[in-house]
Amino acid sequence: MNTNIQAVSYDWLMAHARSPEDGMTMAFAGVIQSAGKGEIQPPNLGMGLSVNKFIELLDQYFPGASPEMCDVSDKAESADCLPFRMDEFQDLVELLLEHRSNDSEQTEWLAYAFASGCMGKDHLYADMGLPGRPAVSALLEFHFTALFLKNEGRKMKWKKFLYKQLCDRAEIKACPAPSCSVCDEYRNCFGTEDSAVKVQPDVVVTVA
Ligand code: SF4
Repeated sequence: MNTNIQAVSYDWLMAHARSPEDGMTMAFAGVIQSAGKGEIQPPNLGMGLSVNKFIELLDQYFPGASPEMCDVSDKAESADCLPFRMDEFQDLVELLLEHRSNDSEQTEWLAYAFASGCMGKDHLYADMGLPGRPAVSALLEFHFTALFLKNEGRKMKWKKFLYKQLCDRAEIKACPAPSCSVCDEYRNCFGTEDSAVKVQPDVVVTVA
């Protein structure tokens, strides 16, 4: 199916939201806006989801938005695919889905939203349009509990933590020091996540 997904604003999406106070709703709206503005580069403006799944997401969380956002006519162009970083994106989705707390399609969509948020250069919460680290933590704790618990005691910055998991899975030693406690990069990996310090993954890794 050919499709053309229109970029929309957070406020426009939220005007269609079924539950504007819901954390997943806010995450989806934030990621969709960030992708539309080019602040993150997921595989397409639909968070890397197939067209059908993206329309299903919109219909569940933002009723009435999909007819205006998604042109699925025969004449629509499939121009929203950006092939770069696809392996990295899929590795992140796989990592999250391996740790999912339930089999719901909503949790699967959220995995794509988190992976999309990792395709930006700011803190994960900022690239997902969320108000702060606690909002990211709450979603990870509920929907990807096993992954959340791996970071609970350490409080590594979330984007750093997810990429560190990919390195560990691939048995890649990307860290410059034998342990975090003696590493010069400590403040870049841990500590407060605020808008003053941007976070960018150091390593792009593909897990076979
Ligand atoms: S603090 Fe240093 S050793 Fe620890 S995860 Fe960060 S880069 Fe690696």
